[in-house]
Amino acid sequence: MSVEAIEREIKGHEAELEKLCRTIWENPEPGYREVIACESICSILKKEGFEVETGIGGISTAIRAVWGDGKPAIGFLAEYDSLPGLSQECVPYKKSAGKEYGHGCGHNLMGTACLGAVLGLRSEMIKKGTKGTIVYLGCPAEESMGGKLFLAREGVFHGLDCAISFHPMTVNRVTVGSSLAVNQFRLHFYGKSAHASADPQNGRSALDALELTNVGINYLREHVPSDVRIHYTITDGGKAPNIVPEYAAGLYFVRASSRENVDEVYRRVLKVAQGAALMTETELKADFLGGCYNKLHNKVLCELICECMKDTIQEPWSKEELKFAEEINRTVPGYYKKTVEKYQLSPNDQLHRGVLPLLTEGSMGSSDTGDVSWIVPTATFWTACMPLGTPGHSWQLTASVGSSIGFKGAMFAARSMALWGVRLLENPLILERAKAEFSEVTKNRPYRSPLPEGICPPVGH
Ligand SMILES: [Zn+2]
Repeated sequence: MSVEAIEREIKGHEAELEKLCRTIWENPEPGYREVIACESICSILKKEGFEVETGIGGISTAIRAVWGDGKPAIGFLAEYDSLPGLSQECVPYKKSAGKEYGHGCGHNLMGTACLGAVLGLRSEMIKKGTKGTIVYLGCPAEESMGGKLFLAREGVFHGLDCAISFHPMTVNRVTVGSSLAVNQFRLHFYGKSAHASADPQNGRSALDALELTNVGINYLREHVPSDVRIHYTITDGGKAPNIVPEYAAGLYFVRASSRENVDEVYRRVLKVAQGAALMTETELKADFLGGCYNKLHNKVLCELICECMKDTIQEPWSKEELKFAEEINRTVPGYYKKTVEKYQLSPNDQLHRGVLPLLTEGSMGSSDTGDVSWIVPTATFWTACMPLGTPGHSWQLTASVGSSIGFKGAMFAARSMALWGVRLLENPLILERAKAEFSEVTKNRPYRSPLPEGICPPVGH
């Protein structure tokens, strides 16, 4: 039976996978600079006989590792970047590890789980003589929503027949609901400095331009589709009230449930900024920083991974893990209560077990996996890698994914993904159905990169 064989194979690699997971967690790296993670993953893939290439898409920390030959080609989407300000030790109370970055989204588990999955799938393919290609794709800088866009622009995903992406979560579940498409950008205004009291007529305030832009955006809100979200922060607003600011800048997100709506509102926000520059006689510069598509979950592939999770062995949580979880949950009573109620779990549960039914509910977040999902049929799923109350991007999350709780969740994901691959290869009809669904949904809506012409990855070769 594949389930037990996969379990045995991945168990055989558990010590090195645990070490990898810990190395990435202990060395949290920013997007595009995931050097340690990239090297650690590549060294295992090379040792295991994969054909490994880095630097794809112009990003030095991107990985493509291939094993097998022929069709279908199945892609496993790994990530390994971390977040600023979320340094935390592996303890159930807030204690910084003194680093600039931390794994507050659990991406240390993603590269590791995908590695376990490809090793599990490969062993089954060897045993059964199955044809097909496994493609491990290390995708940098998910948090800045750019990594996969550069890879997509280079055609990295176009040769795949399907793809899968696992993300750490509080519960084991699969959703066919979408996420939001987004554009992230910075607006810079350049004015003219002057004494704000003695010589105001000669000043041209860059801050005025920025504020007028924000006022304009807030009027624009009334006249955009209801799924649109616009958020901003002012990052530079001048130095002192008695000096007319010659430079001001802000960071902006425009999100919506479709790429089309993001493109349209982004165009209008730029017009608002141009209007503000005209009013204030300042110069505007807009920098596109990143963006992505909304997720298009392939129902056929999602149903298959849900079924595989149900058929995969789940290790029980230990007493220590449950105690750790209880302490974490106590720090976030509101989040804990909400999760327990939302999924109708027992009020005594601290960590999730079992698999929730397929959900249709979408997410208000964004991920560059969305871009992949518009290029090839893609499934995304979550496994329980943290206590039920854990909020996203939090110290509680960093602590949990550095513990055995996170690793157990990642190994459950690895076994489920390997089984998913085996079943796909053994039943070609499933992939045919997945492709038919994909063609139907994307008809007349081909993938167009959100990246403006000529833009390069922020850190490449
Ligand atoms: Zn994430």
